[in-house]
Amino acid sequence: MRQRNFRKKTPQKPASEKSVADIVRELRAGNASGDYREQSLKIHGLICAKCGREFGPKDRHLLTVHHKDGNNRNNPPDGSNWENLCVYCHEDEHSRGLLADYLKQQDR
Ligand SMILES: [Zn+2]
Ligand SMILES: [Zn+2]
Repeated sequence: MRQRNFRKKTPQKPASEKSVADIVRELRAGNASGDYREQSLKIHGLICAKCGREFGPKDRHLLTVHHKDGNNRNNPPDGSNWENLCVYCHEDEHSRGLLADYLKQQDR
């Protein structure tokens, strides 16, 4: 006996409809959507925009890309939404910036 009418009526969510929780998870994971980091490092150089520390091939993993508007889906190819921050400055930035507000709302 064949199975028929196997279709389910679950509406498909468009991929662009991410929840804030998803975004925060990606931010925490650090590397979520990949190659904008390399692009930003290329455009802005291996230097922290805040403390001015320079990085080389050995410690470049300590340099992260910060999204100025706090939205890591906003990745204009000219790098205008990116800032290269070392992990220390980056953490500092988020401890009092946009993301801190996000996280607070999430915990409620
Ligand atoms: Zn720094
Ligand atoms: Zn950031």
